[in-house]
Amino acid sequence: MTGSKGPRLRLLGTGGTIAGTAPESTQLNRYAAGVIGAEALLTALPQLNQIADIQVEQIANVDSADLGFNHWRDLVDRLRQILAEDSGLAGVVITHGTNTLEETAWLLQLLIDDPRPVVLVGAMRPASALSADGPLNLYQAVQVAVSAEARGRGVMVVMDGQIHSARAVSKRATQGVGAFHSAGRGPLGWVDDFGVHLPAVEQRAPAAFAALSLPTVWPQVVILHGCVQPSEALIPALLSAGVQGLVFTGTGAGQLSSVERNALAQWQGPLPLMLRANRCGMGPVHRCEDHARLGLLPAGDLSPQKARVLLLLALINGDDRTTLASRLLSR
Ligand code: ASP
Repeated sequence: MTGSKGPRLRLLGTGGTIAGTAPESTQLNRYAAGVIGAEALLTALPQLNQIADIQVEQIANVDSADLGFNHWRDLVDRLRQILAEDSGLAGVVITHGTNTLEETAWLLQLLIDDPRPVVLVGAMRPASALSADGPLNLYQAVQVAVSAEARGRGVMVVMDGQIHSARAVSKRATQGVGAFHSAGRGPLGWVDDFGVHLPAVEQRAPAAFAALSLPTVWPQVVILHGCVQPSEALIPALLSAGVQGLVFTGTGAGQLSSVERNALAQWQGPLPLMLRANRCGMGPVHRCEDHARLGLLPAGDLSPQKARVLLLLALINGDDRTTLASRLLSR
């Protein structure tokens, strides 16, 4: 789209439903994700010519359930390179599957230190669907990414006219265009044909791992979901297998059952880094002595999957428990 009007922007495609197709326009659930290239998404949206001069790159074209650490590394490396090399670039938009979009957004928030907007966008309906939401979502993501209002806000997600922060956003419904929300605090702002509406309050903290290089082999961090009478065998099995990190999706405010706590207490070897998140989906997890004695740190208001992303990066960085605890406090 070079030669178009407006600020220069980079579009990085990774796949997802926004790039998905089905044989029939009435098929909303039975489709293949990650089929159409990002260039074709752009060609189908000539309205973008009016607001930005966009250069496209395809990083991957997959269902986001199939994203792996290598995709993450490729995306982070390329994004850092683009931002470092092109000082005249206004911002970056990343098309992404919705299923794990919040994890990639949070990963980038922890790794990318740049005032220019990085906006992730997806769609709940495939590109071939009646009333596909991808084109408008993409248009609005570009609106946000080139706006002055979005500078300094870090990594954002634009879906259904709402602008969410990478930290708060999560997918909360399996279907419907309004599937994304920011628990407790609501979206950062809105985007519509009057422009980008972001109250001038949130100031971004520096990215925690801005200098971290991502490895080819990542640590093993497992999420365990709390429930009535959890398995007694799982924790010893994971510890014997040498996992380097555990995230507990505890009940209530991040509570582990006595079965789980006993399994940790009885383990003879060193315990991995461990975080307590919660399965309620809203509200904080605070420090608790019974759990702290076992080395479990509270994940605050991070979802289990975002706590895992933080733990992965902390392990890659070589953090010990004290350093990880200070990161949780300072966020
Ligand atoms: N399975 C799709 C994905 O995450 C779902 C979507 O994009 O909405 O890639």
